[in-house]
Amino acid sequence: MKPVRTRIAPSPTGDPHVGTAYIALFNQCFAKQHGGQFILRIEDTDQQRSTVAAEAAILRALRWIGLTWDEGPDVGGDCGPYRQSERAHIYQQYAQQLVDKGLAFYCFRTPEELNAIREARKTEGLTPGFKLPDPELAPETVQARLAAGDPHVIRMKVPMSGTCLVKDRLRGVVEIPWAQVDMQILLKSDGLPTYHLANVVDDHLMGITHVIRGEEWINSTPKHQLLYEYFGWEAPEFCHMPLLRNPDKSKLSKRKNPTSILFYQRMGYLPQALLNYLGMMGWSFPDGRDKFTLEEMIAEFDVDRVSLGGPVFDQDKLRWLNGRYIRENLSAADFAQTLKEWAFNEPYVNAVLEQIQSRVELLSDVADKGRLFFMGLPELTPDDLAMSALSSEQVGELLQLSAWALESVADWTKENVYHALNCIAQALDIRMKVFMTPIFVAIAGSSVAPPIMDAMVTLGPDLSRARLRHALKVLAMPSKKQAKAWQKCFETIDFNPVSA
Ligand code: GLU
Repeated sequence: MKPVRTRIAPSPTGDPHVGTAYIALFNQCFAKQHGGQFILRIEDTDQQRSTVAAEAAILRALRWIGLTWDEGPDVGGDCGPYRQSERAHIYQQYAQQLVDKGLAFYCFRTPEELNAIREARKTEGLTPGFKLPDPELAPETVQARLAAGDPHVIRMKVPMSGTCLVKDRLRGVVEIPWAQVDMQILLKSDGLPTYHLANVVDDHLMGITHVIRGEEWINSTPKHQLLYEYFGWEAPEFCHMPLLRNPDKSKLSKRKNPTSILFYQRMGYLPQALLNYLGMMGWSFPDGRDKFTLEEMIAEFDVDRVSLGGPVFDQDKLRWLNGRYIRENLSAADFAQTLKEWAFNEPYVNAVLEQIQSRVELLSDVADKGRLFFMGLPELTPDDLAMSALSSEQVGELLQLSAWALESVADWTKENVYHALNCIAQALDIRMKVFMTPIFVAIAGSSVAPPIMDAMVTLGPDLSRARLRHALKVLAMPSKKQAKAWQKCFETIDFNPVSA
């Protein structure tokens, strides 16, 4: 029997997501329980969206929560490099191998031609799987076009009809019609692989025996199984974990439930509690207990007991569990130390005091004036966000656009925060003073507060953004229609970099 090797393969394109920690946890448990290895691989082939900062944040967040990996970009290992952007030459070779075997082909079609094919397929009522009517060009034509330097991609061939039987550890055999499966691009025109090629090649070269990942990937699995077959490799066992859900059972989303691990850290959740809680997503301890350590979970874990019922990520339950950890696991000294690390440390307290000194008459005013720096999400009602100079729709729109704009502020300085908000105010044609009032309320819980941009810098990006989203939630916005219209407006806004 091959030694068990599992992996987590995050794409560094945004804040570290609780869903990544959840899947990583189950992979680590499975590997360790079988005396195997758990690997972390960075899937950064999307050069447009991947950032070094996001990668660093993912690694930090997963370590903070208490996960450890045996191989990865930061710890090394025998199967490196563990960052796909450093493995480009490997994928090209494998894509070429498939072309040579006649299992993949060069495609020179322009975006316009592809669109026309898509449109034609739509009018004919064909299934969504993207197929080209006549994929193969004569070898001489291919050679001539390659020699002429024509832009091209490499696509995989897929059966036009029949059914793919996807074997899933938790679901048994899942039938997916080949008609729904795209003639997937394997190698893009920039020479970099798509997720599908890189993922399969790396799982093979890294000796991954079990692919435990979110169920959103199940529809991609026919392509992956087929690639293993084309290469003549043994496929790993696939196990698609149920997606985390909001309490209303929709897929866990930022709009309804904070998803960034950094938010939970900043709110004052303990990593042990969060990790424990994630262990209860789709799985339960055999004796039904709610509180268990990672070691206990590894000892008792049984992947076949994962239930597919859509685990609900419930803030109230997590909060309750966190309270238990604070009460039952921390000595008075640990509690004090944990709080110090969280926000009761000198740099943070000094930053707060600096901002509130001018508003304090008695030293005892400090607790009240400094409250906003130590609280989580303010208690708000829609009335608190009712403004005389703005309609509630305008308030919602400016909060939403600000939240989106602040999501892409990588370097969280006052200048950059001001710039992002000012661009939105100008685009919406609202005077900055009026524009800032709802922001004050969302961040501070009231319109009377110290300078709010300084406060946002001190609070940091995760809590600041979460408070804006929380205010939107209080307003029950956006509706689907609003989200669409606001997104459109947002896309037209020009965020020039802060001028030097
Ligand atoms: N890079 C993919 C992601 O971001 C990995 C999916 C997989 O595990 O195959 O989730």
